[in-house]
Amino acid sequence: MKLHEKWIEDSRQMGLLVLKKQLQAVIYGLAIGDALGVPVEFKKRGSYSITDMIGHGTYNQPLGTWSDDTSLTLALMEHLSECSDLPALMDKFVAYRNGYLTPYGDCFDIGIGTNRAIERYLSGVFPEEAGGQSEMDNGNGALMRISPLAILMQEEFDFSNKVKIIERYTKITHRHPRSIVASILYIQILIGLLLNNNLKNTINGTKKLFLEYFEPSHPYRKEFDKYFQVLFEEDLFKLPPSEIASTGYVVDTLKAVIWCLGTTNSFESAVLKAVNLGVDTDTIGAITGTLAGALYKIESIPEKWINNIANKLLIDKKIRDFLHYFEKLEY
Ligand SMILES: [Mg+2]
Repeated sequence: MKLHEKWIEDSRQMGLLVLKKQLQAVIYGLAIGDALGVPVEFKKRGSYSITDMIGHGTYNQPLGTWSDDTSLTLALMEHLSECSDLPALMDKFVAYRNGYLTPYGDCFDIGIGTNRAIERYLSGVFPEEAGGQSEMDNGNGALMRISPLAILMQEEFDFSNKVKIIERYTKITHRHPRSIVASILYIQILIGLLLNNNLKNTINGTKKLFLEYFEPSHPYRKEFDKYFQVLFEEDLFKLPPSEIASTGYVVDTLKAVIWCLGTTNSFESAVLKAVNLGVDTDTIGAITGTLAGALYKIESIPEKWINNIANKLLIDKKIRDFLHYFEKLEY
């Protein structure tokens, strides 16, 4: 091998190693946040306190069990790795209801909006039109499963391409513009953190990009101005917990996860704060874990929690397959 060939090969290997660490940070972070929240899902804030990973509780599942948030994210990773079409992805969601991509072959948790979209798809509706589009259809079910798009698009500098892909993968379960705006903001913030920007710069950059790209008359802009503006104000991190709702409404969820990230200084403290907010603990834990993984990197995630992830072999297999997809792209 000539010197310049060796140099190219070395830098390729280095790129794949960085990608592997990013994927582990984001996906382990997601599964850990999910598993921390599962035992206390629906519980009222203040009625419990999570300081470490526990088992049983709400669904009586063993320690480390993750739910639909992680399963449907793995489904997206699998779909992207295979370069399959949208019906193939919807078929994976259908299979999830029968235990596919779960820790123990058992589906114990599925969001109402996602379940309705699956039903519409099964009745013959195209995947692109399967998501609910009323104002009541703005749950956090798309937000919780789209993080692999940030890994996929971190080097995509054309914002319009990113928006198109985010729309495509959000609409299959959530078609209201509010849900799509939440997905765009979330993925752009996640990309900023993956590219090693700090939280403040990432948040400011995301707001600037969004406002520059969408004209004031655009439906997304109206949603932003009315519902998401607060996420980008410095005062957000000064708000007391009583001002932070932790429901499954996508606006509440995005505000809660950014607040958890901005009011703590480690992976551990961010996810614990998230799962102690109550109600939709697994999804708020999962999304906070994803962002905190990207911000603090794999080395900062407690090893005992990584080792506690149920059926980690399955998650590692999906990470490897996704890496393999990038490896093929490099050639
Ligand atoms: Mg869940």
